[in-house]
Amino acid sequence: MSKILKDYTLCKHCTRRLISQSYLKTHSKSSKSLKSNCFICKDVFDTLDSILFDIYEKINSFDFKTFNLGLTIKHSYLERDDYLKSKFKIKGVENIKFSVSNELIKKISKKTKTVKNIEEPDIFLQINLKDGSSVIRSKPIFVYGRYNKKIRNIPQKLKSCTSCNGFGCHNCNFTGLESIESVESKISYFLKKKFDANRVQINWIGGEDQSSLVLGNGRPFFAKILNPKKRNRLLQKSFDLENVSLFELRKLPIQPKGSVPFKSEVSITIDTKKLIKSLNLKKLSLLKNTEIINNSKDKNNNTKRIYDVHYKKLGKTKFLLDLFVDGGIPLKSFVQNSDLTPNVSELLENPCFCKKLDFKNIIV
Ligand SMILES: [Zn+2]
Ligand SMILES: [Zn+2]
Repeated sequence: MSKILKDYTLCKHCTRRLISQSYLKTHSKSSKSLKSNCFICKDVFDTLDSILFDIYEKINSFDFKTFNLGLTIKHSYLERDDYLKSKFKIKGVENIKFSVSNELIKKISKKTKTVKNIEEPDIFLQINLKDGSSVIRSKPIFVYGRYNKKIRNIPQKLKSCTSCNGFGCHNCNFTGLESIESVESKISYFLKKKFDANRVQINWIGGEDQSSLVLGNGRPFFAKILNPKKRNRLLQKSFDLENVSLFELRKLPIQPKGSVPFKSEVSITIDTKKLIKSLNLKKLSLLKNTEIINNSKDKNNNTKRIYDVHYKKLGKTKFLLDLFVDGGIPLKSFVQNSDLTPNVSELLENPCFCKKLDFKNIIV
């Protein structure tokens, strides 16, 4: 034991780590002059404060209560550590990387009054001691909400830039996206700003055309907010984003899994090619409680159903169709001639066209 300290200069951290505490107590003199140029770690412990100075500045802008840390150190540290351990037959002690990591965790904990958490830390610090760099990633936040769309001609989703197909170019300011307003762009912008985040991914419960309104209790969505700095921001239940309003907003403790089944109440204005006979229109009642079969898809698909049907003649070649249906039915196809059976055009023996399709309610 004493031999290692005679032959090699070790810092106090490496000494403590490699040599048993009981030995050090009885030979406290030999561990006194432990200064400068540690054989194993080249006094890396003395450099930690200056590295952390940088990191503290960065993590200052993050809300977090827990963190975890990933560390990269020069391989030569580990090699010298292993060399001494095998030469002096030292077993069952932590390695140099572990030791540096623990020291960093101790310091960060103390300074930021937070704790280490391996399972689900609020932030993850990747520290590279080779080049002194560090990267901070924050755990995503999940938000549930519903939206109403009160005017037409706003698409639901962001579209890729047509000039670059989403790669990013001068036309799209390197965002890869068309700079048109969409429900997605409005919600994303709102949530990005709210949580000071990089990016927002939205999982929609169903979709609509840009010409459709979304009324009633609104369409539900789940948003994943990536790398949020302000994790603790309070989220108001409702928020108005001009023509799109959000409500029932709330943070979710975990990511929702899989797809969510839902039903829609829709109101469709339909134009017909031939004149409508009122008697003929009564056939629409047959649609109540029928299953929709999609002949173009394989049969593994979940069966979709129409639950309720109401209709009203609006003119010689125009009628209104109100449906209560399972989510995910391509409603335009259901009205116009298509691979769906039954479908409205076929049933009425009169080619039909979707003029207007609005969502009155979406039920999850
Ligand atoms: Zn050392
Ligand atoms: Zn572009």
